[in-house]
Amino acid sequence: MISLNAPLLGIKGIGPKFLVKLKKFNIETVKDLLWHFPFRYDDFSQVSRIADLKLNQQATIQGVIEDIKVRKTWRRKLLLMEALVSDDSGSIKAVWFNQKFLLTVLKRGRLINLAGKVAEGHRGGLILSNPAHELITAISKIETKHTGRLVPIYPETRGMTSKAFRYLIKPILNQLEKIKDSIPDEILKTGGILEINEALNKIHFPKKINDVELAKKRFAFEDIFYLQLINIKEKLKLSRQKAHSVKMDAEEIKKYLSRLPFELTVSQKKTLFEILRDLEKNHPMNRLLQGDVGSGKTIVAVLAALMIAKNGKQTAFMAPTEVLAVQHYQTFKKFFGDFEKGVGLITSSVVKVFFGDELENTIKKNELSAQILSGEVKIIFGTHSLIQKNIKFKELALVVIDEQHRFGVRQRAELIGRESVFIPHFLSMSATPIPRTLFLTVFGDLNLSVIDELPKGRKEIITKIVAPENRDKAYAFIRGQVKKGRQVFVICPRIEPTEDDQKLMISLYKMAWETKTVKEEYEKLSKKVFPDLKIGMLHGKLKAKEKNEIMQKLKNKEIDILISTSVIEVGVDIPNTTIMMIESSERFGLAQLYQFRGRVGRGEHQSFCFLFTELKSRTVFARLKALIEAKNGFELAEMDLKLRGPGEFLGASQTGLPDLAMRSLQDPGLVKTARDSAEIIIKKDSELANYIPLQKRLENFQKQVHLE
Ligand code: ADP
Ligand code: MG
Repeated sequence: MISLNAPLLGIKGIGPKFLVKLKKFNIETVKDLLWHFPFRYDDFSQVSRIADLKLNQQATIQGVIEDIKVRKTWRRKLLLMEALVSDDSGSIKAVWFNQKFLLTVLKRGRLINLAGKVAEGHRGGLILSNPAHELITAISKIETKHTGRLVPIYPETRGMTSKAFRYLIKPILNQLEKIKDSIPDEILKTGGILEINEALNKIHFPKKINDVELAKKRFAFEDIFYLQLINIKEKLKLSRQKAHSVKMDAEEIKKYLSRLPFELTVSQKKTLFEILRDLEKNHPMNRLLQGDVGSGKTIVAVLAALMIAKNGKQTAFMAPTEVLAVQHYQTFKKFFGDFEKGVGLITSSVVKVFFGDELENTIKKNELSAQILSGEVKIIFGTHSLIQKNIKFKELALVVIDEQHRFGVRQRAELIGRESVFIPHFLSMSATPIPRTLFLTVFGDLNLSVIDELPKGRKEIITKIVAPENRDKAYAFIRGQVKKGRQVFVICPRIEPTEDDQKLMISLYKMAWETKTVKEEYEKLSKKVFPDLKIGMLHGKLKAKEKNEIMQKLKNKEIDILISTSVIEVGVDIPNTTIMMIESSERFGLAQLYQFRGRVGRGEHQSFCFLFTELKSRTVFARLKALIEAKNGFELAEMDLKLRGPGEFLGASQTGLPDLAMRSLQDPGLVKTARDSAEIIIKKDSELANYIPLQKRLENFQKQVHLE
């Protein structure tokens, strides 16, 4: 019998050569090997005829290599492998990037299977983009035909073929000691979830396609179930901790509202009420305030902070950048400049404070921290600087974090850990719409408030896709707007051309051709297209101070056109900027494009968003069109999730969440079952004392994933 945790070293049939190769996949134990799942299954009754292939189809073909060659792309110097493969019905080009070793494997005249996505070539016509390959020998042909079973195909490298994996895994599975399932029986039964031993067998050696689905479901369920357990435990923990309870005072709120030059939208009122309700409780709030760009989240949080101050307690209001921190502070001063208690601002380069009718003072940092410690200053706006060790609060009751995805868990913990008995209430704000299933799983320990409308009177932003031949027209239009006094953002995907951009090559064949960069566009626009206008440049390689200066210049209208990378993304409010022009727009996700567009349309003037693309592809066009047609950010987020999958969506291969679970986040039914199951277990036994295998597994799982 072989035990799951045994090292592969010493297992019969696994020689030193295999061990070295497996190590490349980080496979060292029996468990590692068995959890190296096939990524697809070849069903040879399902081989497509080349002539029948359709765009975007996931297909397996079988054919002869007619021709194979390698060349360099002219601009990026990537190695491009192209093979022409044909069967009785026709031929198709297959394309790979930077996989030169294929030349030694794929030879003219060989019979191969190729499996992959059917894409559109850059000159039109269909291609197979980065397909998986398998050489067909006379023997394997007979074998596959006659067994008629699904053949698992594993992620391979040189020298470790799928066949080798099958050869290694099969005998181990046969001799494996029965694994104790960490998912409790009762959950397996009610959820219709496969037991672990059976699931392992089925994922490696399915008899029918339904076996694969059941097995995948089990492994996906498992991870989502663990995530839900973590969330629910976290919620439970918070509900047992103490926080300052702050009474809501409706009269006082009315007074504050009367100072605003506008009326709150219904959504703003509703979310404010939800927040104030939470603040009344004596355990910490943990809430996410979500709302489209420009929906007015700041004022909602500010009103909550005022309520806290009224009760004599303090609020720390953190923004991801100095520009935003200053903006929040200024907004506060504009509306509540005579607020009689201390309000401060602290970033790495500015420290300010004001007390009601007195003038604003620029002071030393240690003076402000003394005033924070004494409790004189009630609301403090700032950046990371706010959570430095030497800043101590007298009674911190609320922490507001703007654009929360820019702040890590660790920083939050640091702030919260400072206060001994009372944990501050926590409000994070984000304009990134997160689809519901994803929210429940990944941020399931948070409560959600949504502002789902924009303040009245906002003009719709006119959005257009601009084909290459209309570029000059667009430039002429932009010139006209600048002459009228408006300002312009130009967004490019990258700072400068790079020699070897690995990301470019990933399956997106066409995109290796041209991606606009900030530096190149800056050269072009400032020297050739608009030599008479003031052009600026902003990107992540600049120092924080330089970035601030540029943003300040933009505010002061010392820059007409600002060319930037996506660093511009977060919350900047410059109402006079009315044109958002996005280069190589196909390179951005829909949610991101949506965020960019939200940078304009904030003032009285009509705003425009121009989506440039050099590609003549129907798929790209359809995707960009979604941006024009979607009613709101949530709709786009759902679309984005479908198109790109949750991994890309969360902006991370970083989450540590296994692929299978990631993909299943798109299955609301499964997420709900996992959530319900987790609730049942925690209700019964919150410490999992009677579920030891689960408890242990969960500990490991928590080490492995790192969300946010
Ligand atoms: P975001 O939700 O993107 O952070 P902000 O809080 O920056 O949006 O608000 C955008 C702008 O709208 C600000 O200038 C703010 O003063 C203004 N605003 C907020 N609420 C309203 C409202 N109900 N009516 C009109 N303008 C509003
Ligand atoms: Mg904001």
